Amino acid sequence: MNTLNADLHCHSVISDGTLTPEELAARAKAQGVSLWALTDHDEVGGQARAAAAAAACGLSYLTGVEISVSFLHQTVHIVGLGFDAENTQLVNGLAQTRGGRSQRAHEMAVGLAGVGIKGAFEGALRYAGNPNLISRTHFARFLVETGVCKDTYEVFRKYLTEGKPGFVEHRWANLKDAVQWIVQADGMAVIAHPARYKFSANEELALLTEFKGHGGLGIEVVTGSHSSAECASYADTALEFGLAASRGSDFHSPTESRTELGALPLLPDALTPVWSLLAERIAHAPSA
Ligand code: AMP
Ligand code: MN
Ligand code: MN
Ligand code: MN
Repeated sequence: MNTLNADLHCHSVISDGTLTPEELAARAKAQGVSLWALTDHDEVGGQARAAAAAAACGLSYLTGVEISVSFLHQTVHIVGLGFDAENTQLVNGLAQTRGGRSQRAHEMAVGLAGVGIKGAFEGALRYAGNPNLISRTHFARFLVETGVCKDTYEVFRKYLTEGKPGFVEHRWANLKDAVQWIVQADGMAVIAHPARYKFSANEELALLTEFKGHGGLGIEVVTGSHSSAECASYADTALEFGLAASRGSDFHSPTESRTELGALPLLPDALTPVWSLLAERIAHAPSA
């Protein structure tokens, strides 16, 4: 079971990726993925296309989303897998979560103008396949294109993270709401890339405890954002907290992403993979 090449985390043009759902499905297939999920930020508008493309190229599919949550003054990402993508409460909750992005983007542009970078809102918007989902990634692409920075990582470091001129604190969804939107839509909630947060041990314990208390069942252990030491550490966390383990590249773009679709270590044997608990929610690839 843990030998499955599952990639349950990536982004399309419907959020801040550069490929369409169809291009991602074909690329995942070519990379040897057998179970795939498209997990756009705060949006399920690409799910029908992703599921159809997966079936057409022989990939098994789980529905996916990555919800932005505010928890203890940080942004935490909660991945949802295997839910009903037409569930009204989930769809409405995501619409509400997307709501403040445009206003925030205008404020980010004001901050950037303050350090001499003009026209960043309009510039970023040109990169947003979905204007309702304008994100920091689109600003990063604009700043690379205009030669301000050499790559998107440099943009985040110098301009878009806490304390930097283009950073705007934002209130996303509550942890409880995000987990419950997923759970009541028959899906599984999973904590995304846990090593990326800057929580103290006590704060992380609060995240894990509250997440479980709201019905969360999974945690990403093998992700493009974890070093091998972080994978090992969160494998222990999964066992200690009785959470199922997920695996996903967080692929955004062939030119920007450090981890290719499906190109990740396998889940450690001792862990329960999320897909073993989601067996009934998997749309199986039609046999060739
Ligand atoms: P937003 O939802 O607008 O805050 O944008 C968050 C997105 O920016 C993430 O999903 C990543 O794709 C990207 N991102 C966040 N932090 C970094 C970073 N330090 N370096 C590169 N990309 C990042
Ligand atoms: Mn992203
Ligand atoms: Mn994320
Ligand atoms: Mn992601």
